[in-house]
Amino acid sequence: MTRTRDRELRDRASKVIPDGMYGHQSVRRLPEEFPQFFSKAKGARIWDVDGNEYVDYVSAYGPNLFGYGFEPVDRAAAIQQARGDTLTGPSEVMVELAEAFVGMVSHADWVMFCKNGSDATTMALVVARAHTGRKTVLVARHAYHGSAPWCTPRPAGILPEDRAHIVNFNYNDAESLTDAVRSHAGDVAAIFATPFQHEVFHDQAEPNAEFARVARALCDESGALLVVDDVRAGFRLDRDCSWARLGVQPDLSTWGKCIANGYALSALLGAEKARQAASEIYVTGSFWFSATAMAAALETLRHVRESNYLEHIIAAGLRLRDGLQRQAAGYGFSLRQTGPVQMPQILFNDDPDLRVGYAWTGECVRRGVYLHPYHNMFLSAAHGDQELTRTFEVTDAAFASVKQRRAGLGPVVQLTRPRRPGSN
Ligand code: PMP
Repeated sequence: MTRTRDRELRDRASKVIPDGMYGHQSVRRLPEEFPQFFSKAKGARIWDVDGNEYVDYVSAYGPNLFGYGFEPVDRAAAIQQARGDTLTGPSEVMVELAEAFVGMVSHADWVMFCKNGSDATTMALVVARAHTGRKTVLVARHAYHGSAPWCTPRPAGILPEDRAHIVNFNYNDAESLTDAVRSHAGDVAAIFATPFQHEVFHDQAEPNAEFARVARALCDESGALLVVDDVRAGFRLDRDCSWARLGVQPDLSTWGKCIANGYALSALLGAEKARQAASEIYVTGSFWFSATAMAAALETLRHVRESNYLEHIIAAGLRLRDGLQRQAAGYGFSLRQTGPVQMPQILFNDDPDLRVGYAWTGECVRRGVYLHPYHNMFLSAAHGDQELTRTFEVTDAAFASVKQRRAGLGPVVQLTRPRRPGSN
């Protein structure tokens, strides 16, 4: 496996891009086998700039739902692109897409589009404050809602004032949430919750239904808005908002990542009661109304409604989980595979500083399977038999190699476990 071109590009990047790369796609904290730069992708496969091919379980950190280069979506986008993309005003497709979302997401009566998840979560916060005239926003400790000053995990450049009214509670802990609401009685604008607990470096946890019901009840009593942040999990758990499965309807939900299968689009969806506030705030962006990504999203949503992609992804995720569990046991390893099978987090037992997980994912990447050592992964509808067969060949060889090397594994260089995780 060559890395010549990747090394050259990293070298050049280090001169013109701060820290050589920034944000969630920087490989600085990943094992050395991980390439930084990629050249192309198709289906569930990606190729790095040196031409090495990988079965990709990170799916661009979520946006790839139906496969990279999924033709029906790319065709719809190309047709719109040829007609016009970023114009002096929005296109017809914006209304069609808003209608499609409202038709699919049961709590939603209206939609506002933007570009990234952080745009949508920040807009949710502003709508909630406009609706209630209050300041306090409750957010689960360590949850990731984006990179805006009110929620970014890194302290550099952020003022205490930026977070002055952000109050933490413990996810899945109805008592902690109730206490947080009571201690800010009369001033809670919103409760934010991710569909399940998906933090970097940690096991994932399903939401307990009681926690979700208490969140809804506290909002109903206090007048605060309940926000489900579906940016990461949206359409991978359900064809509706992810908490619809629990029978809990939020007032607002935030979407991004996979809703246009790789095209840049995010959205804030809201219930009738928040419409007035959403009409009053001023939010916009030069590219928020661009039609190409909306045409891509309209086609993506059609496939969400009409195909069995979700059942397929769940079946593939189950096969992956079972197969890895069996292989690991055969080599004397014990895995913790947590969260929904379609968004797996894979950590090793007896591996407190992740050195075994780093070695194993490094060996997988070296052999052509891109698995992440500390961030949840994302299966797509393009993960089929061939990909799983190839994966199991590689993961088996990787377990064998790590078993041999285990005694000599050193600490992971530069691994830090941030108190507030820097996830994306
Ligand atoms: N909310 C959640 C739950 C996320 O996972 C993310 C990104 N991973 C965001 C918000 C922010 O999205 P973006 O990176 O597109 O701004």
